[in-house]
Amino acid sequence: MTFKASVLTLYPEMFPGALGLSLAGRALEGGTWSLEAIQIRDFATDRHRTVDDTPAGGGAGMVMRADVLARAIDHASPEGDLRPRLLMSPRGRPLTQARVRELAAGPGAVILCGRFEGVDQRLIEARGLEEVSIGDFILSGGEPAALVLLDAVVRLLPGVMGNAVSGEEESFENGLLEHPHYTRPQEFEGREIPEVLISGNHKKIAAWRRAQSEALTKERRPDLPGAQPLLK
Ligand code: SAH
Repeated sequence: MTFKASVLTLYPEMFPGALGLSLAGRALEGGTWSLEAIQIRDFATDRHRTVDDTPAGGGAGMVMRADVLARAIDHASPEGDLRPRLLMSPRGRPLTQARVRELAAGPGAVILCGRFEGVDQRLIEARGLEEVSIGDFILSGGEPAALVLLDAVVRLLPGVMGNAVSGEEESFENGLLEHPHYTRPQEFEGREIPEVLISGNHKKIAAWRRAQSEALTKERRPDLPGAQPLLK
Protein backbone atom coordinates (compact mmCIF):
# COMPACT_ATOMS: atom_id res chain seq x y z
CA MET A 1 0.00 0.00 0.00
CA THR A 2 1.26 3.43 -0.95
CA PHE A 3 0.93 6.35 1.46
CA LYS A 4 -0.68 9.14 -0.53
CA ALA A 5 -0.11 12.77 0.47
CA SER A 6 -2.08 15.60 -1.14
CA VAL A 7 -0.90 19.06 -0.14
CA LEU A 8 -3.04 22.12 -0.82
CA THR A 9 -0.88 25.21 -1.05
CA LEU A 10 -0.34 28.57 -2.70
CA TYR A 11 3.30 27.51 -3.23
CA PRO A 12 3.34 24.04 -4.85
CA GLU A 13 6.97 24.73 -5.88
CA MET A 14 7.93 24.15 -2.24
CA PHE A 15 7.19 20.42 -2.70
CA PRO A 16 8.69 17.88 -2.56
CA GLY A 17 11.54 20.22 -1.55
CA ALA A 18 13.65 18.55 1.10
CA LEU A 19 11.49 15.44 0.80
CA GLY A 20 12.84 14.85 -2.71
CA LEU A 21 16.27 14.01 -1.24
CA SER A 22 17.79 11.32 0.96
CA LEU A 23 15.58 8.58 2.43
CA ALA A 24 12.27 10.30 1.75
CA GLY A 25 13.30 11.13 -1.83
CA ARG A 26 14.35 7.57 -2.56
CA ALA A 27 11.08 6.28 -1.11
CA LEU A 28 9.16 8.78 -3.23
CA GLU A 29 10.94 7.63 -6.38
CA GLY A 30 10.45 4.01 -5.40
CA GLY A 31 6.71 4.48 -4.93
CA THR A 32 6.57 3.83 -1.16
CA TRP A 33 4.66 7.09 -0.94
CA SER A 34 3.28 9.62 -3.39
CA LEU A 35 2.92 13.36 -3.21
CA GLU A 36 0.74 15.77 -5.14
CA ALA A 37 0.97 19.50 -4.50
CA ILE A 38 -2.24 21.22 -5.52
CA GLN A 39 -2.37 24.94 -6.31
CA ILE A 40 -5.24 26.44 -4.28
CA ARG A 41 -5.40 29.39 -6.66
CA ASP A 42 -6.64 27.09 -9.43
CA PHE A 43 -9.94 26.90 -7.53
CA ALA A 44 -10.58 30.64 -7.44
CA THR A 45 -13.30 31.76 -9.83
CA ASP A 46 -12.72 35.48 -10.34
CA ARG A 47 -10.54 37.16 -12.90
CA HIS A 48 -7.81 37.90 -10.36
CA ARG A 49 -7.86 34.37 -8.94
CA THR A 50 -8.47 35.74 -5.46
CA VAL A 51 -8.00 33.30 -2.56
CA ASP A 52 -8.21 35.66 0.43
CA ASP A 53 -10.15 38.62 1.73
CA THR A 54 -10.15 41.06 4.65
CA PRO A 55 -11.10 39.70 8.09
CA ALA A 56 -14.73 40.08 9.15
CA GLY A 57 -14.77 42.35 12.20
CA GLY A 58 -11.67 44.20 11.03
CA GLY A 59 -8.03 43.91 11.99
CA ALA A 60 -4.75 43.28 10.28
CA GLY A 61 -3.99 40.84 7.49
CA MET A 62 -6.07 38.65 5.22
CA VAL A 63 -8.05 35.45 5.66
CA MET A 64 -8.22 32.54 3.20
CA ARG A 65 -11.71 32.14 1.76
CA ALA A 66 -13.86 29.14 2.73
CA ASP A 67 -15.46 28.73 -0.70
CA VAL A 68 -12.19 28.58 -2.63
CA LEU A 69 -10.58 26.21 -0.12
CA ALA A 70 -13.66 23.97 -0.06
CA ARG A 71 -13.46 23.51 -3.83
CA ALA A 72 -9.77 22.64 -3.57
CA ILE A 73 -10.38 20.14 -0.76
CA ASP A 74 -13.32 18.52 -2.55
CA HIS A 75 -11.14 18.09 -5.62
CA ALA A 76 -8.21 16.61 -3.65
CA SER A 77 -10.35 14.50 -1.34
CA PRO A 78 -13.70 13.52 -2.85
CA GLU A 79 -16.33 11.69 -0.82
CA GLY A 80 -15.16 8.21 0.14
CA ASP A 81 -11.52 9.27 0.52
CA LEU A 82 -10.52 7.73 3.85
CA ARG A 83 -7.49 9.93 4.39
CA PRO A 84 -7.57 12.36 7.32
CA ARG A 85 -7.79 16.04 6.38
CA LEU A 86 -5.23 18.08 8.25
CA LEU A 87 -4.84 21.82 8.56
CA MET A 88 -1.40 23.01 9.62
CA SER A 89 -2.16 25.56 12.33
CA PRO A 90 -0.45 27.01 15.41
CA ARG A 91 -3.81 26.59 17.17
CA GLY A 92 -3.83 22.87 16.50
CA ARG A 93 -3.02 19.98 18.78
CA PRO A 94 0.78 19.70 18.97
CA LEU A 95 2.09 16.92 16.72
CA THR A 96 3.38 13.88 18.63
CA GLN A 97 5.28 10.76 17.63
CA ALA A 98 2.13 8.79 18.52
CA ARG A 99 0.04 10.74 15.97
CA VAL A 100 2.85 10.43 13.43
CA ARG A 101 2.74 6.62 13.88
CA GLU A 102 -1.03 6.56 13.39
CA LEU A 103 -0.75 8.61 10.22
CA ALA A 104 2.03 6.37 8.89
CA ALA A 105 -0.20 3.33 9.45
CA GLY A 106 -3.03 4.88 7.41
CA PRO A 107 -3.71 5.46 3.70
CA GLY A 108 -2.22 8.97 3.59
CA ALA A 109 -3.19 12.54 4.39
CA VAL A 110 -4.74 15.59 2.80
CA ILE A 111 -2.84 18.59 4.14
CA LEU A 112 -3.99 22.18 3.89
CA CYS A 113 -1.28 24.83 4.28
CA GLY A 114 -2.48 28.17 5.61
CA ARG A 115 -1.06 31.57 4.70
CA PHE A 116 -1.80 35.13 5.86
CA GLU A 117 -3.79 35.17 9.12
CA GLY A 118 -5.19 31.71 8.51
CA VAL A 119 -8.40 30.23 7.09
CA ASP A 120 -12.12 30.96 7.52
CA GLN A 121 -13.38 29.03 10.56
CA ARG A 122 -16.43 27.75 8.66
CA LEU A 123 -14.18 25.82 6.29
CA ILE A 124 -12.52 24.02 9.22
CA GLU A 125 -15.92 22.97 10.56
CA ALA A 126 -17.60 22.17 7.25
CA ARG A 127 -14.76 19.91 6.04
CA GLY A 128 -13.90 18.40 9.42
CA LEU A 129 -10.28 19.54 9.37
CA GLU A 130 -7.94 18.33 12.12
CA GLU A 131 -5.74 21.25 13.14
CA VAL A 132 -2.13 20.21 13.70
CA SER A 133 0.63 22.39 15.18
CA ILE A 134 4.35 21.65 14.98
CA GLY A 135 5.17 23.84 17.99
CA ASP A 136 4.52 27.03 19.90
CA PHE A 137 5.89 29.48 17.34
CA ILE A 138 4.48 31.17 14.26
CA LEU A 139 5.60 30.30 10.73
CA SER A 140 4.78 32.47 7.75
CA GLY A 141 2.92 29.58 6.15
CA GLY A 142 1.87 25.98 6.62
CA GLU A 143 4.24 24.59 3.96
CA PRO A 144 7.31 24.09 6.17
CA ALA A 145 5.01 22.54 8.79
CA ALA A 146 3.60 20.12 6.20
CA LEU A 147 7.15 19.18 5.16
CA VAL A 148 8.01 18.52 8.80
CA LEU A 149 4.94 16.36 9.33
CA LEU A 150 5.51 14.36 6.14
CA ASP A 151 9.19 13.86 6.93
CA ALA A 152 8.27 12.37 10.31
CA VAL A 153 5.62 10.12 8.74
CA VAL A 154 7.55 8.95 5.68
CA ARG A 155 10.56 7.70 7.61
CA LEU A 156 8.23 5.28 9.41
CA LEU A 157 6.80 3.75 6.23
CA PRO A 158 7.88 0.14 5.70
CA GLY A 159 11.28 -0.11 4.04
CA VAL A 160 12.21 3.56 4.24
CA MET A 161 14.64 3.36 7.14
CA GLY A 162 17.41 0.85 6.68
CA ASN A 163 17.69 -0.14 10.32
CA ALA A 164 14.19 -0.55 11.72
CA VAL A 165 15.43 -1.09 15.27
CA SER A 166 16.74 2.44 15.62
CA GLY A 167 13.19 3.76 15.17
CA GLU A 168 11.95 2.00 18.28
CA GLU A 169 14.73 3.22 20.54
CA GLU A 170 14.40 6.86 19.64
CA SER A 171 13.33 9.86 21.66
CA PHE A 172 9.60 9.90 22.51
CA GLU A 173 8.94 6.30 21.52
CA ASN A 174 8.97 5.28 25.18
CA GLY A 175 8.20 8.62 26.82
CA LEU A 176 11.91 9.33 27.21
CA LEU A 177 14.55 11.39 25.44
CA GLU A 178 17.31 9.32 23.94
CA HIS A 179 20.68 8.75 25.60
CA PRO A 180 23.79 10.52 24.19
CA HIS A 181 25.72 8.97 21.30
CA TYR A 182 29.47 8.56 20.72
CA THR A 183 31.63 7.24 17.92
CA ARG A 184 35.31 7.17 16.97
CA PRO A 185 37.77 8.71 17.60
CA GLN A 186 38.15 7.32 21.12
CA GLU A 187 39.56 10.68 22.26
CA PHE A 188 38.34 14.05 20.95
CA GLU A 189 39.96 17.26 22.23
CA GLY A 190 40.75 15.53 25.50
CA ARG A 191 37.29 14.03 25.93
CA GLU A 192 37.02 10.25 26.11
CA ILE A 193 34.10 8.03 25.16
CA PRO A 194 32.50 6.90 28.45
CA GLU A 195 34.30 3.76 29.66
CA VAL A 196 31.17 1.63 29.94
CA LEU A 197 30.43 1.97 26.20
CA ILE A 198 33.67 0.26 25.27
CA SER A 199 33.41 -2.39 27.98
CA GLY A 200 31.56 -4.86 25.74
CA ASN A 201 29.16 -5.55 28.64
CA HIS A 202 25.78 -5.18 26.97
CA LYS A 203 23.77 -5.36 30.16
CA LYS A 204 25.81 -2.58 31.72
CA ILE A 205 25.60 -0.53 28.54
CA ALA A 206 21.80 -0.84 28.43
CA ALA A 207 21.55 0.19 32.11
CA TRP A 208 23.85 3.18 31.54
CA ARG A 209 21.86 4.33 28.54
CA ARG A 210 18.58 3.94 30.40
CA ALA A 211 19.91 6.00 33.34
CA GLN A 212 21.18 8.70 30.98
CA SER A 213 17.80 8.78 29.24
CA GLU A 214 15.92 9.15 32.50
CA ALA A 215 18.20 11.87 33.85
CA LEU A 216 18.06 13.85 30.61
CA THR A 217 14.28 13.57 30.42
CA LYS A 218 13.81 14.69 34.05
CA GLU A 219 16.10 17.66 33.47
CA ARG A 220 14.86 18.82 30.07
CA ARG A 221 11.35 17.48 29.65
CA PRO A 222 9.64 16.97 33.01
CA ASP A 223 6.35 16.91 31.07
CA LEU A 224 7.14 13.58 29.33
CA PRO A 225 5.75 10.34 30.79
CA GLY A 226 9.27 8.93 31.24
CA ALA A 227 10.12 11.74 33.68
CA GLN A 228 7.37 10.79 36.11
CA PRO A 229 8.37 8.79 39.20
CA LEU A 230 7.03 5.22 38.99
CA LEU A 231 3.86 4.75 41.02
CA LYS A 232 4.30 2.18 43.77
N1 SAH B 1 -2.73 34.38 12.77
C1 SAH B 1 -2.41 33.02 13.06
C2 SAH B 1 -1.04 32.64 12.47
C3 SAH B 1 -1.02 32.55 10.98
S1 SAH B 1 0.52 31.99 10.38
C4 SAH B 1 -2.40 32.82 14.57
O1 SAH B 1 -2.05 33.76 15.29
O2 SAH B 1 -2.72 31.72 15.04
C5 SAH B 1 0.09 31.49 8.74
C6 SAH B 1 -0.06 29.99 8.51
O3 SAH B 1 1.17 29.34 8.83
C7 SAH B 1 -1.10 29.29 9.36
O4 SAH B 1 -2.38 29.37 8.78
C8 SAH B 1 -0.60 27.86 9.39
O5 SAH B 1 -1.01 27.14 8.25
C9 SAH B 1 0.91 28.03 9.33
N2 SAH B 1 1.57 27.91 10.64
C10 SAH B 1 2.13 28.90 11.36
N3 SAH B 1 2.65 28.46 12.50
C11 SAH B 1 2.42 27.13 12.54
C12 SAH B 1 2.71 26.10 13.48
N4 SAH B 1 3.34 26.36 14.62
N5 SAH B 1 2.31 24.84 13.19
C13 SAH B 1 1.66 24.55 12.04
N6 SAH B 1 1.35 25.50 11.11
C14 SAH B 1 1.72 26.76 11.35
